Amino acid sequence: MALRKLVAGNWKMNGDRAALGELHAIGAAARATSQVDVAICPPFTLISAAAEVAEGEGISIGGQDCHANAKGAHTGCVSAAMVKEAGAALVIVGHSERRTDQGETDADVHAKAAAAIAAGLTAVVCVGETEAERDAGRAVAVVEAQLEGSVPREGQGVNLVIAYEPVWAIGTGRTPSAADVAEMHAAIRAKLGDVLGGEGANVRILYGGSVKPGNAAELLHIADVDGALVGGASLKAADFVPIIEAAG
Ligand code: PEP
Repeated sequence: MALRKLVAGNWKMNGDRAALGELHAIGAAARATSQVDVAICPPFTLISAAAEVAEGEGISIGGQDCHANAKGAHTGCVSAAMVKEAGAALVIVGHSERRTDQGETDADVHAKAAAAIAAGLTAVVCVGETEAERDAGRAVAVVEAQLEGSVPREGQGVNLVIAYEPVWAIGTGRTPSAADVAEMHAAIRAKLGDVLGGEGANVRILYGGSVKPGNAAELLHIADVDGALVGGASLKAADFVPIIEAAG
């Protein structure tokens, strides 16, 4: 059974209020491609304003991280409930930049994803191998281990999304071959079945890493690719809209 596709943009530490004007053209494309869900994940400071602009545009707003705890002495952090109250419907957890820059472990990602789900958000759990791990023939094993450690067992099709993002493909303009993407997404689907039982079939698996207008159609129509997580090409509607259209 094909799942409804999700195309989500990760603005990372980019964007300002003026950039929210892009949401109108993105929303128009989302409404015109009604079989595709569309989301934008701006920095925390823009979630509230983005949610106001997005209302009626047919797109969802997401956060890029949340803390595992509900509240407390965690200076500079934001809880899942805060992300939700600001207007988000989903939150990315375990992005490779956070795993690298902040040293987040699978256990950290698991706790954040569980907190997100408990707060009523959809958790977008990121996994992916480094280039050295792929070269060593360990890509699938690495990702399976990340899933084992990161995926909350209460995950379901409605509150959990997996984003497969090979670290070496993020922001580099390089992508895996279609065969490698197909192999990995099939392995992720099988592992979700082990971890979540029948519910694993309902969890969307996004591909992320240098998705662009020129390669989106091929990547988005590989078996078990249920959408895309898009970084650089989500900042401008002119780049992001063709990716949404390619998913339809
Ligand atoms: C990302 O960081 O989630 C990402 C996919 O980035 P890019 O599309 O720029 O490679």
